[in-house]
Parts: sequence; C-alpha cells; structure tokens
Amino acid sequence: MRRDERYYGRFGGRYVPEVLRPAFEELEAAWAAAREDGAYWELLERLGRDFIGRPTPLCPAERLSDELGIKLYLKLEGQAQTGAHKINNALGQAVLAKRMGKARVIAETGAGQHGLATAAAAAKLGLECEVFMGEVDMARQHPNVFGMRMFGAKVTPVREGSRTLTDAVNAAMKNWTERVSDTHYVLGSALGAHPYPAMVRELQSVIGREIKAQVMESEGRLPDRIYACVGGGSNSIGAFAPFLDERVELVGAEAGGRGSRPGEHASRMGGRGSVGIVQAYKSLFLQDGDGSLLATHSVSAGLDYAGIGPQLAHLGETGRVRFDSASDDEALAAVARTARAEGILPALESAHALALAYREAGTMKPGSVVVVNVSGRGDKDLFITAPIFDRADWISFLESEIAGMRAEDAI
Ligand SMILES: *Cc1c(COP(=O)(O)O)cnc(C)c1O
Repeated sequence: MRRDERYYGRFGGRYVPEVLRPAFEELEAAWAAAREDGAYWELLERLGRDFIGRPTPLCPAERLSDELGIKLYLKLEGQAQTGAHKINNALGQAVLAKRMGKARVIAETGAGQHGLATAAAAAKLGLECEVFMGEVDMARQHPNVFGMRMFGAKVTPVREGSRTLTDAVNAAMKNWTERVSDTHYVLGSALGAHPYPAMVRELQSVIGREIKAQVMESEGRLPDRIYACVGGGSNSIGAFAPFLDERVELVGAEAGGRGSRPGEHASRMGGRGSVGIVQAYKSLFLQDGDGSLLATHSVSAGLDYAGIGPQLAHLGETGRVRFDSASDDEALAAVARTARAEGILPALESAHALALAYREAGTMKPGSVVVVNVSGRGDKDLFITAPIFDRADWISFLESEIAGMRAEDAI
C-alpha cells in the first residue's frame, strides 16, 4: 500500500491534542483504504460527472490570447456545482465519511464557499451537516449563510476571538473532540494535520489531470506554464500535482492586498512568512515575534489567510513552484478585463492568478501555452465588487478599457 507523506521537507506533520489522536488515526486508516479502492474513485467519478458537472471546460481565451501574444487557456472550475473547486474536496470527504459509518459532517468556513460546498455534498449524500462560521463573516457573507441553510445545514456562529476563520477552525476542532464517534470533520484546504494535506491534494488533483488531458488533446503537448491562486493552497496544489515531475512552470499567486506592511496583505511566501506550528501543522505563517498570527488583508476572502499548506511551502522553498503576488487593484482590473474580453466573470481569488499571467505575458516566448486555473466564478463577489466598480476612478478605468478595445477592433 502506498503511504501518504506526513512531512514535506521541514513542513507538515500532525500536532494535535491527545483527545483527537484516535480520530486522526481512524481517518488516516480510512483514507489509506479508500485511496486504494477502485470503487471509491468510481463513485466519485460518477458523482463528479452527474452532480458536480465534471470535467469542467478548458476554455481557449481567444481574444486575450490575441492581445497577449500567448495561447491562453482558462480552466473553468467556476462551472462546478456551487461555483468553485471546493466541491471536489467536500464531496470526496463526504463520501469518505459515509464509508466510515459517520452520519454527520462538520466544517469551518470563512467566506462561506467551503461551508456551502460541504452543505451541498451532505445534502446529496443524506448526511447531517453543521458549519462553524465567525459572527463577523456571517454578517459579511450573508448570501452563503442562506445557501447553506437551504441545503439543510446548521450554521453556528462563532463568537470567540476575532470572530473570523481562525476562530471557526478552533470551534470545529473543539466540536470534533466532543462528537468523534459519529462525526467527520471536512477540512476545506490542503493544510492542517496529516493526512488532510495529502487527502485534499489527491481529491483536488482531478483539476490537474483534466488540464493535462485537455491540453494534450488541443495542443498535442503539455502547457509551458500554469498559474493558480493560493489561499490555503487546495486549487493550486490540485492543478499542479500531476505536473510536478514534468517540465512545466508552476506559478502560485498570493494576495498582495493594499501594501507590503504587516496586516495589508496575505503574502506568506517571498520571505514574509516564518516557520511556525499553528492549528496542528508546521508551515510558513504570517506571525509576530511571539508566534501570534498577524491580521491579513485581501479584497478576496478566500486568499485572506495567514497560513499556507505545507506541501506548497516546501515546493516554494525548493523553487519548484514560483510565488508572486497581485494587489487588490490588479485583481479587480483582471476581473474586469477577463469579463470584457471573454464573457467570463472570475472570482476575485482566481483574478490574482489571471493578473500575474497578464503582467508576465510580455516576457514569455510568443505562442507559449499557458493555463490559468479559474478556481471560481465571480457572482459570489458582486456585493463586494459592485460598489468598488461604481466608484468614479473605476468607471473611468473601465471606460478607457472599452475605448482601447474598440480602437483595436477598428485597426
Ligand atoms: C476558497 C477559494 C480559494 C482559496 O482556497 P485554496 O484552498 O487556496 O484553493 C480560491 N478560489 C476560490 C474561488 C475559493 O472559493
């Protein structure tokens, strides 16, 4: 039997309280058995096709390709059920919970996307579902709270600490210790204690496998470069994993926010994060000298997190994955440009990856084959983006973009 990695270089591991050790051992054994079981993957493939809508399209971005001088493809994870890649992981873990004989799943959520995906997967499989969400986030992301309730989930407000994602993770962990016998904890990204980083990567690798097959079909070769945005790291490691041993450049886009001072961004790589053990795993974190997590900022809720998955931290340290950041404004401009040119409204998170591709296209060999993983669709962001795009400076920016495109069409 293949064994999952517990460490990635000096990162990873499992630093859990004594009471949770049996739960992690049970989960590790159940996952090891499932990942070797063809029936598990067959069921996921069937649900992937019939329920999630896989494979998601790899869309040639023809107008942007002309503008940029490269061959750009967009992997449209936003077309998956509930609007982002998160359902790949949530459904895989919900099926695993059922195999383990658990009647109930719990999840933490920040922006609500992972809660929404878990609630939908639980509804599909007939599992009870409770989602822990900071009170501040519940107010900020009310449409997703409503969506989770529509799927039959109980949404429990967390009133501790800053009442945001970190506190929701703690509340979910605490609930798990109390209900281990009938409950599986569906963690939402490729981080946390072993085996979560490996399990989430495997469940999200469907993205990269599809990219590989789809680019091979249309280009007859592998892409030159793949971009993906990095919050906790699940859509990026899922897109990258099948290419780690290939000659394909892999680029992770972090949130540059509104500046480089502490609290203004969520850029953990590039020397700003330091080694720590937080929420049961060892990785790079944005933290102060005492090891307390720093506040982070990003216009995109999904990238607004102080930690990063251990495998990506390692891949960044060894140089296999290159990291760079895009600012709030660059991401917003990329949303507008992608929508205008391609008829695709990307999520603010995904727009960070698009922004890096647009910024770097001029330095690539003409005709380079480039894939951007568009992890989600932007409908969920309209409450945030609409007031910004209504501001006078953005209105004139958007108008100048239209004028620029008309001029090009006329040539
Ligand atoms: C949650 C989310 C992310 C960030 O999470 P990762 O685990 O880094 O993928 C990115 N894009 C979208 C659309 C999301 O909902």
